[in-house]
Amino acid sequence: MSHRAPTHARLIIGLTGGIGSGKSTAADLFAMLGAKVVDTDGIAHELTAAGGAAMPEIIRTFGAGIAQADGSLDRAAMRRLCFSDPGAKRQLEAILHPMIRRESAARCQAADNAPYVLLVVPLLVESGAYRAQTDRTVVVDCEESVQIERVMARSGLSADEVRAIMATQATRADRLAAADDVLTNNDGKAALQAQVERLHQRYLALAAGRSPA
Ligand code: ADP
Repeated sequence: MSHRAPTHARLIIGLTGGIGSGKSTAADLFAMLGAKVVDTDGIAHELTAAGGAAMPEIIRTFGAGIAQADGSLDRAAMRRLCFSDPGAKRQLEAILHPMIRRESAARCQAADNAPYVLLVVPLLVESGAYRAQTDRTVVVDCEESVQIERVMARSGLSADEVRAIMATQATRADRLAAADDVLTNNDGKAALQAQVERLHQRYLALAAGRSPA
């Protein structure tokens, strides 16, 4: 029995965490157990790929020079533009965010046999719109030193560059305060997998207890 009335037919679990906390790693583990994963970052990439639905408006707004020869977003050019002009970042977000929200909502409700949906949103805690779309929030949490090491190893950024990105995100304490469930990801992948398996069982039980739409 859900403790609050569902606003949508399916159980939707929002998964979030800071950069490098292990969101993608955890989402892959849930997917292997049978959850349907909807990833807002992946949708953003699709929208700005060659032929992506956001590209016509992005080109109208910023000019043809913002696209590469194949029609995909020139990410380096966009980053430079956003760095020199904060208004450009807001314009880009005004184009992309409503499209990402619509597409993720459609994918969450699309018919398939998955028992529940895991909606991966890096800035879930920062965004009221996504919290309204989800029934429950799971936070992937780890020590900030571990986050920094992982992102440095993955990207080649310096520790200070990683800290600068972390400073633009919700604090660890804010995320934990918003969490219904926490995956602690300081140790190896086996430790994470064991926690994912326990939560998956809980989500299956919650999904089974929901009244049919
Ligand atoms: P996010 O999606 O939150 O940015 P990722 O899942 O991509 O984080 O993880 C960041 C990096 O750390 C990746 O290279 C990933 O393989 C690695 N990683 C994540 N969790 C673990 C873990 N428990 N043990 C070892 N490496 C991990």
